[in-house]
Order: sequence, then structure tokens, then C-alpha cells
Amino acid sequence: MARRLLVAGNWKMNLGPKSGDQLARELKAMLSDQTKVDVAVFPPFVTLPAVIARLQHTGIQVGGQDLHPEVSGAYTGAISGEMLRELGCHSVLCGHSERRSVFGDTDADVNRKVHAALRSGLLPVLCVGETLEQRNAGQVEAVIASQLEGGLAGLKADQIAAAILAYEPVWAIGTGVTATPDQAQEVHAFIRRWIKERLPPYVAEQIRILYGGSVKPGNAALLFSQSDIDGGLVGGASLDATSFSAIIQAA
Ligand code: PEP
Repeated sequence: MARRLLVAGNWKMNLGPKSGDQLARELKAMLSDQTKVDVAVFPPFVTLPAVIARLQHTGIQVGGQDLHPEVSGAYTGAISGEMLRELGCHSVLCGHSERRSVFGDTDADVNRKVHAALRSGLLPVLCVGETLEQRNAGQVEAVIASQLEGGLAGLKADQIAAAILAYEPVWAIGTGVTATPDQAQEVHAFIRRWIKERLPPYVAEQIRILYGGSVKPGNAALLFSQSDIDGGLVGGASLDATSFSAIIQAA
């Protein structure tokens, strides 16, 4: 069974409710007819209600950029998976490299977030990726393996099969430097092999692995045509309806 591609836009800390609604309105107009691939956007928390309302019944899914592992309590400034689900979110990013590097999320934190996402009925999008230093030191596979091992700990095979992974080399995020299709495919194949060696065969067959890191309209088609790349997680280029749509058309 062929895996359905997913193109997801991570808006990061950009676009408040008004400008986010405007982008959602443009995406709705441009993408209402496309059914070829799955599409999702990840706006900031405060922008979620406007975007969810705007994209209702469009097939474009909306998710959160992060969540707190607990359901509720004295965690000032935090948002739980249950809250995101109540709002109408479909999925949530876990372990984006900016959460890891700027906010200090460890693999154990990321794993708690993945479990919390599943508990609250959200699809987790687990992000992994090496830094340039780690790549230059020949540690790509070791780093990715330990992020997978940590992030997926305690999950059942079915939960892993339905989850989304995103391989995002840190050196390619927001830098304009994209991994070559060969470089990306090599790591995606490694990830699928890592899963195959540990879980029933259907898990590696089903799980979708997105590539992220300076995906643009000009490089998307070649990246998405690689056999183990099942779509993209797009940052900068997802903030403009025309370029995000062009990436979706390239899929
Ligand atoms: C991201 O934020 O996940 C990302 C890949 O960003 P960019 O496309 O801007 O590199």
C-alpha cells in the first residue's frame, strides 16, 4: 500500500490571529480542490482558533506546535494536549529542534509529550535531526537512533505505525541550505530500517517520514520523489500561500 504524502507547514512564532486567518483564507481558496496529498498547518497557539474555524471542512488539518505532558495543573504558560484537542487540533509537533535547542526539551521530555499527544487523541509528529557538528563527526545514525529510541519509548506498534516522523537536519532548518535528495533519502532509509529491525514489518511500511529543512517550491519535487520521503515539514516557505501551494503541487 502506497503511503499518502503529507505536506505540513510549521508557522513557528509567526502570524497572530488576524494574519493567520488571512493566510488560512488564501490556502483555503488555493487548495480547496486538491486531494492528492494530505495538508496540515501548525500555527501558534493563539492563532489556532481562527485557523481551525477558517479551515473547517476543507480537509486541511490543523495542529499545535508543542504541548505540556500533563493534562492540567500549575504549569504557567503551558498548554495541554487535551486543550488542543478540545479546540479541534488534529496533531501536534513533538521535539522540534527549536524546542530541543531553545527550550531544552530532552528525549525523555519529548517521549512524555508523544505519550500525552496519544492520550489526548492527537497524532504526534516526532521530529529528529542531527546538528552540523554531529554530521561532521560521523554521528548521524547514532544521533537519529537515540532520538528515535528515546522519543518512541513505550509506544505500541500500532501507535508508531500511525504516527508521523520528521527528519529535520538542524543545519538545514531556516538556513536556506537543504539536504540533497540523496542525503535526505539516506537518512530516511536508515530510519525505516531502524523501525523494521525492531517492529512488525507493517510498521515500517506504514509510517510516514517527512523531510524538513529549507524545503522550497524549487527543491520539493525531487525531495518528495525519493522512495522513503513521504512529504515535508515546511517552515519559512509555509508562511506564504503561493509558495506553500507550489510545494503541495510539487508533491
Ligand atoms: C521547520 O521549522 O521545521 C523547518 C523545516 O523550517 P524551514 O523550512 O524554514 O527550514
